[in-house]
Amino acid sequence: MDWSREEECKRTHDPFFYSRKGADACVWIPGPIVVGGGPSGLAVAACLKEKGIPSLVLERANCIASLWQLKTYDRLHLHLPKKFCELPLMPFPASFPTYPTKQQFVGYLEAYARRFDIRPRFGETVVGAEYDGVVGLWRVKTVEGKEDRRREYLSRWLVAATGENAEAVVPEFDGAAAFKGPILHTSLYKSGDVFQGKRVLVVGCGNSGMEVCLDLCNNNGHPTIVVRDSVHILPREMLGRSTFGLSMWLLTWLPVQAVDRLLLLAARFILGNTAKLGLPRPRLGPLQLKSLTGKTPVLDVGTLGKIKSGGIKVRPAVKSFTERGAEFVDGRLEEFDAVVLATGYKSNVPCWLKDQDEFFSKKDGLPRRPFPNGWKGERGLYAVGYTKRGLMGASLDARRIAQDIEQYWKAEMKKIMAFTCTPTRQAQ
Ligand SMILES: Cc1cc2nc3c(=O)[nH]c(=O)nc-3n(C[C@H](O)[C@H](O)[C@H](O)COP(=O)(O)OP(=O)(O)OC[C@H]3O[C@@H](n4cnc5c(N)ncnc54)[C@H](O)[C@@H]3O)c2cc1C
Repeated sequence: MDWSREEECKRTHDPFFYSRKGADACVWIPGPIVVGGGPSGLAVAACLKEKGIPSLVLERANCIASLWQLKTYDRLHLHLPKKFCELPLMPFPASFPTYPTKQQFVGYLEAYARRFDIRPRFGETVVGAEYDGVVGLWRVKTVEGKEDRRREYLSRWLVAATGENAEAVVPEFDGAAAFKGPILHTSLYKSGDVFQGKRVLVVGCGNSGMEVCLDLCNNNGHPTIVVRDSVHILPREMLGRSTFGLSMWLLTWLPVQAVDRLLLLAARFILGNTAKLGLPRPRLGPLQLKSLTGKTPVLDVGTLGKIKSGGIKVRPAVKSFTERGAEFVDGRLEEFDAVVLATGYKSNVPCWLKDQDEFFSKKDGLPRRPFPNGWKGERGLYAVGYTKRGLMGASLDARRIAQDIEQYWKAEMKKIMAFTCTPTRQAQ
């Protein structure tokens, strides 16, 4: 449904839809409102569409999947094999490689939006959403574009899909203001070609930090990676299968601790002792750690080889920055030309969703109930894509949410049909 056209019509013909003069327009939406036009928002809108339920997707950026299109580096590929990353109802094209490139993934998402005719309202940032118990509806407030045009949407259902990576985490470091070179978050890093010949300190050793180091190395940069405490590095493939796929398969037969032991044994055999390179492993195994803290193991795509050959240096935590570089906690002082912060992202749900502390934690902006039970709140509130299980978790949530809303939608439609088809109504 083209919401802007419908809105225009309502503005002309119906005083209730555009009830207030001036700044704050108010629009009632018959279907659910989905906040966020990333993979999760698209997945839920598609599952709803398949059931005949229209939805309104609100997206602050001017494109779908803004994380992938605007905030990721050029060399990015899906970290997991494509079969674990496809959205509901539409597989990846068979011609795609096992690990599609970022450009292929974005192409797939664009085709997905076209196929299900999902047309988000771009450039509309949700700044507030709260349940109005008097009318029994969610009130969703947005701000649009530079003119700061404000709107309010009303709906029975609200689906949060703003992602676990909505805002960059930029920690404060002593002396950062004194550092003369650029300090940028990975969300602004595109390619190593602008760092040719430069000494770059990469702070953070997750998948992004490791891949940025590899990219810098491949572009004749001189990266140093900061490993503050510990990290699990696993080969991306083991025994000719993806490590992720193998782990999923093993988990159907064995307890998580046993699978962890097998993974670590194979990793030791394939990669050697990573602690000797300055990359000690956490006390808990990779899968146990993931399920308890959400911390994802690094799937190595070649960075470890560069560390072994000396192309990438490893250092402990940064104590403070200096004018020309950094001092590390082991007392070493080194010079750098630039700093890349691979320090991750966080959810922004607590900034816009009001009075829902029992569903979403204020601390990390994620549902309080652990997977797989964090998708449904009270009074028509849902959450998609906050499972720490990537696109697979988002797809699972999306299907459940659409199924759940369908029950209420059908009941609501029956009521409307009964109302519009009663003899008195017909006679009028
Ligand atoms: C570098 C990187 C690589 C990854 N690789 C993989 C992988 O290989 N496999 C995998 O399964 N997962 C991977 N992930 C995890 C990733 O989070 C998911 O792939 C996916 O992007 C999550 O989709 P999402 O829609 O939940 O969140 P996002 O992609 O973050 O989309 C959320 C959308 O909501 C919008 N938004 C936020 N706040 C507002 C607001 N207030 N109002 C309106 N709109 C708003 C944002 O602009 C954004 O477009 C990766 C993540 C990163 C950072």
